[in-house]
Amino acid sequence: MNILVLNVGSATLKFQVVVTDADRINTDRDERLIRGQIERIGGESIITIRGADGVSRKRTASLRDLRAAVDWLVGFVTSEESGTGLTSRGELHAVGHRVVHGGERFRSSVAIDSSVLHGIEETIELAPLHNPHNLRGIEAARAALGSGVPQVAVFDTAFHHTLPEHAYLYAIPYPLYRRHKVRRYGFHGTSHRSIAYRWRTLTGRDRADVRIVTLHLGNGCSACAIKGGASIDTSMGFTPLEGLVMGTRSGDIDAALLDYIAAKEGLTLPQVEALLNNQSGLLGISGLTNDMRDLLAEADEHQDRRAKLAIDIFCYRARKYVGSYLAAMGGADAIVFAGGVGENSPEIRRQICDGLQWAGLHVDPTANEALTHGREGRFSTDESPLAAWVVPTDEELLIARDTFRVIAGVEPT
Ligand code: ADP
Repeated sequence: MNILVLNVGSATLKFQVVVTDADRINTDRDERLIRGQIERIGGESIITIRGADGVSRKRTASLRDLRAAVDWLVGFVTSEESGTGLTSRGELHAVGHRVVHGGERFRSSVAIDSSVLHGIEETIELAPLHNPHNLRGIEAARAALGSGVPQVAVFDTAFHHTLPEHAYLYAIPYPLYRRHKVRRYGFHGTSHRSIAYRWRTLTGRDRADVRIVTLHLGNGCSACAIKGGASIDTSMGFTPLEGLVMGTRSGDIDAALLDYIAAKEGLTLPQVEALLNNQSGLLGISGLTNDMRDLLAEADEHQDRRAKLAIDIFCYRARKYVGSYLAAMGGADAIVFAGGVGENSPEIRRQICDGLQWAGLHVDPTANEALTHGREGRFSTDESPLAAWVVPTDEELLIARDTFRVIAGVEPT
C-alpha cells in the first residue's frame, strides 16, 4: 500500500510517501519513495525533496495556501520528475496524518470520518496552535485525492492514554479535571512509541518486557517512562510546555511566576505564556540561540558562559527526569536517546548520563562518540546494569504503518 504521510504545521508541511503492508512491517522492509517539506506556504514556498536515492533537491513554487500546497504535492509525487515511480493520483492508496491532540477520546489511531473530524474539532481548545492546522491538512488531502481515499489520524497524545490517574492528575481541585479536562496528556507519543518498538526489536524483547526511559531531545523535548511496553509517565503535560528544557520552551516552572512576570514586565498572561513558549529554554538562558549545535560551538570555541549554563541546565533537568522515572518504575533496563540532539550529540548524552553511575549506568566513551548521523546502538559498557542506547525516532514510518493497520484492520504488535 502506498501511503502519503502528512505532518502539517502553521506554515510548513512535512511529507513522505511510504510503501508498507503486513509483510513489510513484519520483515522491516517498508520503502520510502520520497520525503521532504514545503516551507513558507502562503507565498513563494520553498520545497525540499529527498528521493529514495537520498539526494536532496530544492525548488520553489507559488503556493497560496495549504490546499494549494497539498494539491501541488500530490501532483508532484505522482509525476515522472519525482522519481517515485508513481504515475497517477490513484496510486496513493491512503493518507496518514499526524494529529497533535486527541484529548481523552482518541486512544489509538483511527480512520477519519465525520465523527472523528468532529472529535478533533472538539479538542481545538486544548491545542489551539496545532489541531486547526491538522484539520486543514485533512480537508486539503480530501480535496486533492477525493473522499474515496481513506485517511487515518495518528495522535501525539494517544500513546500516553495508559498513564495512571496518579500520573496524569495535577494536585489542583479535582472538579477542574471533571469540568475542563485539566490533566496531563503528554505529547511526542508517536516518537516514544516508535523508539520503544525499535528498541525491543533490536534487543529481541517482548512488549511486556520493555522497561525503559525514552528521551526525545530535539527542538521540543520530552521524557517518557515506559513499563510493560506502555507509557506510565511523561514530562509534557496539559500542553507541550511542561517538563524538560527545550529550544525555546522553559519546561517546568513555578506557576506563580506567570502573574509575577506579568506584573513586573507589564505583560498580559497570554504574552507571558508566549514568552515561556518562544523566548525561553536554551534561547532564553543563552541569549544566543535555540540551536544546540551552535550552543555547543559557542561554549567550546568562545567559552561563552551563558551558552555553557544553558547546556548545563538542559542536561541537569534531563538527568533529574531520568532519576524520577527510575524511581517511578522501580528501575529500568535502558535509557534510550532520540531526536536531533539525542541522536547526534555524544557530548549532551555524556553530560546527562554523567551522575547516573549510582543507578548502574556506565558509558563507553568510544561507543558514545560513534553514534551520530542516524546510527543506532548501545553506548554503555557491556557490564553496565543500566544500558544506554541511541535509537533514532521514526514517527513517519509509524504513522504509515498505523495507517495501513487501521485500514486493514490489523492490530499493532
Ligand atoms: P524538531 O524537534 O524540530 O524535530 P530535531 O529533532 O530535528 O527538531 O532537533 C533539532 C535540534 O537538534 C537542534 O537544536 C539542533 O541543533 C540539534 N542537533 C542536530 N545535530 C546536532 C549535533 N550534531 N550536535 C548537537 N545538536 C544537534
